Amino acid sequence: MIHPFQILKTEGELNDVVRTAFIDAYGKRGMEAFDAVKEKRVKKYRDYYVVVGNTGEYYVEGSFCSCEARLYGKECWHTLAVKIADETGMYESYNLWYYKNGVDEDEPEYE
Ligand SMILES: [Zn+2]
Repeated sequence: MIHPFQILKTEGELNDVVRTAFIDAYGKRGMEAFDAVKEKRVKKYRDYYVVVGNTGEYYVEGSFCSCEARLYGKECWHTLAVKIADETGMYESYNLWYYKNGVDEDEPEYE
């Protein structure tokens, strides 16, 4: 089987061939991840990627995701969605800090 990310590179867009490849490789996770990217539910902030899921939004950093899947020892589809978004450049970009929630980094410290 060809790796779905290889197919993504070859196709150069999120079409049905790519979608099928991700579903073949990752099952439901692949489908959820693909659809989220396609529907532009991945956002890139200055510190994290944020994925808007069905039940809320989660921030992702590398293989870490803030959702509850890891509590159950499961891999979620959010990190996979970020990988796809990163590969295709299909994400909304925000020049904001997600975690700091709008706190200005240049703000002088209180003395
Ligand atoms: Zn997650």
